[in-house]
Amino acid sequence: MKIIETNNAEETFALGRQIGQQAKAGEVYTLVGDLGVGKTVFTQGVAAGLGIEEAVNSPTFTIMQVYEEGRVPFYHFDVYRIGDVEEMDEIGYEDYFYGDGVCLIEWANLIEEILPPAHKQIIIEKDLAKGYDYRKITIEEY
Ligand code: ADP
Ligand code: MG
Repeated sequence: MKIIETNNAEETFALGRQIGQQAKAGEVYTLVGDLGVGKTVFTQGVAAGLGIEEAVNSPTFTIMQVYEEGRVPFYHFDVYRIGDVEEMDEIGYEDYFYGDGVCLIEWANLIEEILPPAHKQIIIEKDLAKGYDYRKITIEEY
């Protein structure tokens, strides 16, 4: 387990970028944390680290967005608005989770029952006592 503390969005982005630079095809990254904690900022860093230049935002009307322009395909899920895990079946999630790209899932805790056993979990937390922009980022490999 690794704990990294950041004090602004740029540092969280830089951590994501570092992970994106090292990420390998077939890996699944799960992101857990409250609304506004920095999951998308981190994701944008990962995308940059993979060599993706186009803007990466949370897919609002789709659960998943594919980016093909990087070093390996990048599958960005944001399952915040998911009603039922069956919606994951409808988009054929297994092709991505067990595919040839890097998967990153925001709000992964909402689809816990279908997460691949092997994944890297990233938890982002605030601690207001340490300042409004402080974030504690815990990375654990399963
Ligand atoms: P989420 O995807 O978790 O809902 P976002 O990444 O969309 O959250 O938004 C995080 C917000 O918090 C951004 O406005 C960002 O600028 C701000 N922020 C402040 N400090 C940090 C930090 N240390 N790391 C990440 N984001 C931060
Ligand atoms: Mg988000």
